[in-house]
Amino acid sequence: MRLLLHRDAASSSSTARLDPRSWKFFWASRALPRCKETCWRAICGLLPLKETLFRRHIDVDPGCGFCASERENEDHLFLQCPAAKHIWFAFQLAIRVDSFTSFQAFWTAVIAMDDDEVLAMAQTVVYAIWEARNKVCFQQGELVVATVLRRVASLLEEAQVRDLARAPSVSLPAKWSKPAVDIIKCNFDASLRVDGTGGMGMVARDCQGEAMAAACSFPILCTSPLVAEAMSTYEMDTTVGY
Ligand SMILES: [Zn+2]
Repeated sequence: MRLLLHRDAASSSSTARLDPRSWKFFWASRALPRCKETCWRAICGLLPLKETLFRRHIDVDPGCGFCASERENEDHLFLQCPAAKHIWFAFQLAIRVDSFTSFQAFWTAVIAMDDDEVLAMAQTVVYAIWEARNKVCFQQGELVVATVLRRVASLLEEAQVRDLARAPSVSLPAKWSKPAVDIIKCNFDASLRVDGTGGMGMVARDCQGEAMAAACSFPILCTSPLVAEAMSTYEMDTTVGY
């Protein structure tokens, strides 16, 4: 998939602001909260960029943390800097950032796409650029584009895991049926948290539906729901007598 955002999709005004409905969409994104917050601060001009500090008479070189050839502001650091362009173009969704002269116009275009995946991706890339810039400025590190791309992928994966952990469990409509005469029916279940801990249980019933035995165990340490449920059969075998 190749995504191209053109400047005519957005306002060219450098003072453009997102409307309340756009902000609502912005904050509903699946990106991690720290990615959204950093992006919001960048859009609102609240990040301590070097040009901003310089204008406030703070003794700092206003040059870009990556290239030092231009003043470091939102438009340059996140769009026009060769490092930023390299990151945007190298990513899966190749966004033509050179179509925009304004960071805010770029965001107006991203919002106008009404695509949550693109939105979360863009918010995460901006966060990763800011994080990489801080490492270069304060830890004397070097910008390695491949490292930034891996960082973006890692952050998106972290957001996905977080969403899965928060998603309400889906209760499938199921009707339990009695087993045939002389058959004992055992039902097992297990649940896992993101950290790999969880619990499991089982119940055995006869042909009348009467409970004959039950067992549960908590916590357990496991890697997948399938293995956890398999473990619950072992638990029944070792803790329940008939
Ligand atoms: Zn630069």
